[in-house]
Formats: sequence, C-alpha cells, structure tokens
Amino acid sequence: MAATGTPSPDDDALLRALAELYRDADARFAGWSCPASTACCRFGVTGREPYVTSIELLALRRALARRGGPLSPRRRALALAPSARDERTCSLLDRDGRCAVYADRPLGCRTFHCGDATPGAPVGRAELAELVRRVQALAERHQADGARARPLSRALP
Ligand code: SF4
Repeated sequence: MAATGTPSPDDDALLRALAELYRDADARFAGWSCPASTACCRFGVTGREPYVTSIELLALRRALARRGGPLSPRRRALALAPSARDERTCSLLDRDGRCAVYADRPLGCRTFHCGDATPGAPVGRAELAELVRRVQALAERHQADGARARPLSRALP
C-alpha cells in the first residue's frame, strides 16, 4: 500500500469509499443544526477532540494540498477568550470561523454536536458505531495500523 500522501489508484478508491461514507454520515445528521459557535473546533473548550484514522488523515492532507497547504498562523482562528484558558483550537479553523477543509473533515467532526446544537432525528449509538467500524475497515485497507486513531491535533502539522 502506498505511503500516506502518495497518490495511488488504491488510495483513490479508498478515498472515494470514504467520501461515500461521509455522505452517509451527513445524511443521518441532516436535520441537525448548530449556531456555528466554533466551540467544537476548540478542544480545550469542549473537552473533546476528534480522533482520526490514516485514511481520514490522507483525505485531510489531500484537501490541504488542493488549497495550497495549511492555514498560515495569521489566517488561523483567534481565541474566543484569550485570557480565559487554552482553547486548543484546531489548526484548520480559519479566522472567519470556517473549517478550511469542511468537505473533507473527519467523521468525528461530522458526528459531534455541542450542547448549543439543535438536534434533529436521533442517531443511535449503534449507528455511530457502525460508521466508525466502516472508517476503521477502510483505514486497515490503507495501512496496517491505519485504524489506530490519533488525536487530530497530533496528526496534523
Ligand atoms: S477539521 Fe474542521 S470541523 Fe474538524 S475540528 Fe478542525 S476546523 Fe473544526
């Protein structure tokens, strides 16, 4: 299997399967909405952080390459309350409060909603677990240890 970031037909097929899985996840949360507070992208605020498998990381790296690289420090989000606490803001959140790789954000970003979100149809634990298993299966086909997820902040540059 090709190394992460190296284009290969295998990787392309896995990324297409991942994109289909993401569409499935989004459809399950289609009725949910949130006030776009960006709290979910500030891991020190929510106390939660998405973990990413190798295939999700590859999708992120491809998305970053298409946009010309990571956000420069001056384009990254500012703190909500600079003096209050370490917000541990995701390096992919821009100064306008938008995710720089929104279409390719990992499964954890698609399925987590903070307390300010307006819930839609309930998505059960079994459904979530099934989505996670499907991502892990793709990641195992990508790399031998690909399903071993890492915190997003440690996986990104
Ligand atoms: S990848 Fe995007 S949606 Fe996920 S935490 Fe980072 S900025 Fe937020």
